[in-house]
Amino acid sequence: MERYLVTPGTRVELNRIDPSDTSGFDGVKNDGRKELERLTGRLTKLQELLYAEHKHSVLIVLQGTDSAGKDGTIRRVFEGVNPQGVRVASFKPPSVEELDHDFLWRVHAHVPARGEMVLFNRSHYEDVLVTRVHGLIKRPVWERRYREINDFERMLTEEGTTILKFFLHISRGEQKRRLKERLDDPSKHWKFREADLFDRGRWTAYREAYEEAISKTTTKWAPWHIVPSDRKWFRDLVVSDRIVTALEHLRMRYPPLPRHLRTLRVR
Ligand code: AMP
Ligand code: MG
Repeated sequence: MERYLVTPGTRVELNRIDPSDTSGFDGVKNDGRKELERLTGRLTKLQELLYAEHKHSVLIVLQGTDSAGKDGTIRRVFEGVNPQGVRVASFKPPSVEELDHDFLWRVHAHVPARGEMVLFNRSHYEDVLVTRVHGLIKRPVWERRYREINDFERMLTEEGTTILKFFLHISRGEQKRRLKERLDDPSKHWKFREADLFDRGRWTAYREAYEEAISKTTTKWAPWHIVPSDRKWFRDLVVSDRIVTALEHLRMRYPPLPRHLRTLRVR
């Protein structure tokens, strides 16, 4: 699964990455679902350890076009984890108050505390993506923001946060199918927004914005993964695998009883 990591210095070309690729896993959908179950079990244990140890924090950033599967990933990958230690922050268009501050202000307020895991459903990356594509900012601004994002994320990691960033990569055809379903299926109408069609019309501009943003902000302290996401089972598997692997690298331990309490007995 490490093949989906974008190493620092890479110039990303999304056209060269197949959104329906499943080569990172040796098996078909059914095997994938079983493997996900195993990983979800691991994640549940690791998250409890994270909470108990109260030392590290974990920030997971999910980005992708409309219908790429950010909500679905959150639902499937974090099934079973204790809600006490996990939080989701979803970023919508900024309020007037938020717009009166620097773009990282509202984001910083949501970063994970020690022992906590936070999932960003969209993030500060919107401020170099949608704002760029909609013509709200000019090149010097988004270029400056890449640097500011890298500095911000570096500061967070130096303070004990593990950051993992995922771009959910779907094809134009798959997006068409999913958006159509939102119009056709009454149980999915609520997900449909007219703006999704406007953004779909700017597919190429978004592609360029994503390619540049990912290339400029994949760092050794906060790397991006490009996740082939046309197949949902595979998408879930990659995200889950990368998170579990990163948490295992933290070598966490349950805190021992302080020495002066070790002689205590319950009567
Ligand atoms: P959804 O994720 O479907 O709920 O949509 C949220 C919408 O908010 C998307 O259209 C995003 O592009 C938009 N959004 C999120 N963050 C920002 C931002 N910083 N500036 C402008 N639009 C944003
Ligand atoms: Mg949406």
